[in-house]
Amino acid sequence: MLKIAENVRLADKTSYRIGGAARCYAEPRSEAEVVEAYRFAAEKGMPLFVLGNGSNVLISDAGFGGLVVNLSKYFSALSWDKATAFVLSGFPLDDLAADAAERGCAGIECLSGIPGTVGGAVVMNAGAFDTDISKTLRSARVLKASTHTLETVPAKDLNFGYRTSALKGGGDAVLSVTFDFTYGDAARLKSLRDDVVARRRAKQPVDSPSCGSVFKRPPNGFAGTLVESCGLKGFRLGMAEVSEKHANFIINTGSAKAEDVRALIRRVQQAVFEKHGILLEPEVIFLGEFKEPLYKC
Ligand SMILES: Cc1cc2nc3c(=O)[nH]c(=O)nc-3n(C[C@H](O)[C@H](O)[C@H](O)COP(=O)(O)OP(=O)(O)OC[C@H]3O[C@@H](n4cnc5c(N)ncnc54)[C@H](O)[C@@H]3O)c2cc1C
Repeated sequence: MLKIAENVRLADKTSYRIGGAARCYAEPRSEAEVVEAYRFAAEKGMPLFVLGNGSNVLISDAGFGGLVVNLSKYFSALSWDKATAFVLSGFPLDDLAADAAERGCAGIECLSGIPGTVGGAVVMNAGAFDTDISKTLRSARVLKASTHTLETVPAKDLNFGYRTSALKGGGDAVLSVTFDFTYGDAARLKSLRDDVVARRRAKQPVDSPSCGSVFKRPPNGFAGTLVESCGLKGFRLGMAEVSEKHANFIINTGSAKAEDVRALIRRVQQAVFEKHGILLEPEVIFLGEFKEPLYKC
């Protein structure tokens, strides 16, 4: 039977190390327990949020007045049939990339080092180095929030776009995923993987708490270049700071509040808009209530 805890601190469950508590919190161990969680939230009339590894979320200081369903703890397994991988959604994406390279399975090596779960990566259509996770996805097994029924949805019906999919923001849960990779040379794939991880370490503040890129890439440019051109590298509000290493990262330098990060996001949006006439769109997902609105032009 599903255990539901109350008043659980969420900061520890995110890469930002920021955020208040969830009113209710569950770590399901089976598909039946995920269904149970959705039924519980529906009966109580409370909102539900599915959390992966929390590497692309900013949770408000006041927390979340609903049920957080964390799939990263127990929903984590991987099996193979030749170049096809069957993965539970809480499995770490980087571990999948490592195992695929080891087996000589190509198609995911460029996503090495992204610190999310496979489920979170599918919802966000995580990507890097001109590719993304949708390219090798065959299908996702999904729990529909509206009916509490399970469906296997083929990739073509998931409306993948740049850092988005039909699953984003809809409340459905991705439970497992099937990928079709192609065969490649294991030594070459491992070397590509090492290169990708090294390039991340060289360019990104991977040792500081963050959510990765704060803003989506605008048309014809890079968010980091625009932010840097406004002289904002190193700019701070409270303990939130525009990274010196990569201007599209806002890092938590100690005990930053979610409101510090949010205010800094707004300040950056305003500066870039005033200088370039471009409104940067956040990639990070906000959870809970924020006092600071995003910038509107
Ligand atoms: C240092 C760093 C580097 C990063 N580099 C990249 C990069 O190169 N490319 C990139 O695309 N991203 C990058 N990210 C962002 C992040 O790692 C990805 O978006 C990742 O795919 C998010 O996965 P997650 O499990 O952490 O999702 P979470 O942050 O937990 O959740 C993100 C969203 O997905 C939803 N979600 C998560 N799991 C499920 C599920 N099983 N079912 C339904 N909804 C779910 C959540 O509700 C939320 O809306 C980076 C982040 C960091 C901290």
